[in-house]
Amino acid sequence: MAVSGLPPYDDTNIFARILRGEIPNRTVYEDQWALAFHDISPQAPVHVLVIPKGKYVSFADFSVSASADEIAGFMRAIGKVAKDLGLEAQGYRLLANMGEHSGQEVPHFHVHLFAGRPLGRMLPPG
Ligand code: 5GP
Repeated sequence: MAVSGLPPYDDTNIFARILRGEIPNRTVYEDQWALAFHDISPQAPVHVLVIPKGKYVSFADFSVSASADEIAGFMRAIGKVAKDLGLEAQGYRLLANMGEHSGQEVPHFHVHLFAGRPLGRMLPPG
């Protein structure tokens, strides 16, 4: 069921194709809830994408439509990736784009994990 005001899930999006194994990825972590892999165009020394295995267009869709188990499993996967990559000592940033103003390009909910250098201000000067 599509969430009101959001587009329906597009099964041809690039992350859907990665989940189906149609496009290779550099996997960092995988479990029943989530897949984490290196971004193809990294914006920091560490730039990992964590995506839920379910078909959710965006955070807005995921937060409404995913089960409590999916949400918990996904959040725990993000934390595990950061911990396993040894990022907690120096820190990292999580970012999720949602919709047009955010510049979301891929319509499958994902969280960016950036690390490996000081990351500066949260947003570039507008
Ligand atoms: P968004 O702008 O939607 O938040 O972020 C999408 C991200 O997906 C971008 O950082 C982009 O570099 C990454 N990306 C797009 N296509 C591919 C791909 O085929 N493989 C991987 N690993 N990352 C991709």
